[in-house]
Amino acid sequence: MKRIVVLGAGESGAGAAVLAKKEGFDVFVSDSTSIKDKYKQRLDDHGIAWEEGGHTEADILNADEVIKSPGIPDETPIIQKLIKQETHIISEIEFAGRYTHSKMICITGSNGKTTTTSLIYHIFKTAGYDVGLAGNIGRSLALQVAEDPHEYYIIELSSFQLDNMYDFRANIAILLNITPDHLDRYNYKFQNYVNAKMRIIRNQTETDSFIYWNDDPVIKKELDKYDIHAVRCPFSEVKEKGSIGYIEQGQYKLEYPVPFNMEQEALSLTGKHNIYNSLAAGIASNISGIKKEVIRKSLSDFPGVEHRLEKVCDVAGVHYVNDSKATNVDACWYALESMRTPTILILGGKDKGNDYTAIKELVRQKCAGLVYLGADNKKLHDNFDGMGIPVADTHSMKECVEACHRMAKTGDTVLLSPCCASFDLFKNMEDRGNQFKALVRNL
Ligand code: ADP
Repeated sequence: MKRIVVLGAGESGAGAAVLAKKEGFDVFVSDSTSIKDKYKQRLDDHGIAWEEGGHTEADILNADEVIKSPGIPDETPIIQKLIKQETHIISEIEFAGRYTHSKMICITGSNGKTTTTSLIYHIFKTAGYDVGLAGNIGRSLALQVAEDPHEYYIIELSSFQLDNMYDFRANIAILLNITPDHLDRYNYKFQNYVNAKMRIIRNQTETDSFIYWNDDPVIKKELDKYDIHAVRCPFSEVKEKGSIGYIEQGQYKLEYPVPFNMEQEALSLTGKHNIYNSLAAGIASNISGIKKEVIRKSLSDFPGVEHRLEKVCDVAGVHYVNDSKATNVDACWYALESMRTPTILILGGKDKGNDYTAIKELVRQKCAGLVYLGADNKKLHDNFDGMGIPVADTHSMKECVEACHRMAKTGDTVLLSPCCASFDLFKNMEDRGNQFKALVRNL
C-alpha cells in the first residue's frame, strides 16, 4: 500500500487526508502546531492517524508522496529534507484533480481572487448548476471530491497552491493581475512569484479557455514566453485589439462566445477593479453556457464579499468603508481610486516589503487625513509625513477609530485599506475588519 503523508491539518490537509484514505492509501497527517478540534474529529471519524505539535521525521520521510498545505514554506526543515531525498511534494488541489473529471474553473491573481471566485459561484448557483466552491477561499476541493462531488468547481488558487501543482488542468483559467506580493516566500524575487502564477495555464488544451487582463504589463510580457494552447479570452477596461470583454459607452460587453451586453450602471460591484472582476466572471459564465438573463441578473444582484470595500455605515455624515482585505499596495490603490469624497485613509500593519510610491499620487489627490495603525509605524511616517496631510499615529483599533472620528468632516469617507497584513495587532484580516466595524457602529 502506498503511503501518503499530509503536512498541515487545516481545511486543505484534513480534506486531502480523507480523499487519500478513501482512495486506499496508507495515510498519516502531521502538523507542527495544534490541530483544530473539528479537523481532529474529521480525521478520527475516518480512522486516519495524525500527530500535532511537531513532526516525527521517521513517519514522514518514508512517504511515497507528500501533500503539503500551502501555508508551509519550502524553507521548513522537514520540507528541505523531503526535497533533498526527492520525495514528490504536491498540493491538495493537485491531488484532488487526479480523482475527478469535473469541470475546473480556476481563478488566480494578486488581487480580486475571492471577489471573482464568489461572483462566479453566485452566477453558477443562480443558473442552477451543480457547483462547488473550493481552494483558497476556505473549502477543501479534496473533501468535496471524496464526499460531496459536483459537476463544476470554482477554485480560488493562491501562488502557494500553484507552486505544488504539476498535472492539474484548469478547463477555464482566470489570471486577474500580477503585482508584487508574498515576496518573503519567493526569495524576494518577483519573477519567482510571477512564474508561480503562470502555472495556472499548465496542461491546458485547445478545448480550454484562458481568461486574463489584457492591460496587465506583467501578464503581457509573460504571454510571449509560453506556448498557449487554450482559447485566449482577454478582457480590458476599454475596447482594444483582442479583448473579448470591455466597457463601451456605458455598456458592459462580451463578444465571445455569445454576444452579451448590459448597462455598466447595473453592475452591483463598484470601482474600476470590480469592472475587471465582473468582466472575468461574465466571460467564464458565458463560456460555460449560462443564459444571458441569468448572467445579467447575477452581475446586478451579487451582494459583494465581506472586508472588500464593504460599506459599514454612516456616522455624523461620514461614510465608513471596510477594505481590511487590502493587504498589499495595489489593492489599496484600487480602493483609493474608487473614492469619490475626501478620504481619511487607515494604513499600516505587518509590512511585506511594501513600496508605497504607487499610491502617493492618489493619496495626494484623495486623502484629507492619514491614520497609521500598526505595532511599528515608522515606515509610514517616513513615506507620508512630508506630504502636508494631517496624520495620526495609533496602535490599536480603538485609538484608530477615535482618531478617524476626530479627523473626518461631514461628507468624508473613512477607508480602512491598510496595504499590510494584520498579524502585528490582530489575529487576521477578518479580526481587523470586524473590530473596525464594531467600533464604528458604536461611535
Ligand atoms: P484576493 O482574494 O486576491 O486577495 P479579494 O477579492 O479578496 O482578492 O480582494 C482583495 C483586495 O483587492 C480588496 O481590498 C479589493 O478592494 C482589491 N481588489 C479586488 N479586485 C481587484 C482587482 N481586480 N485589481 C486590484 N485590486 C483588486
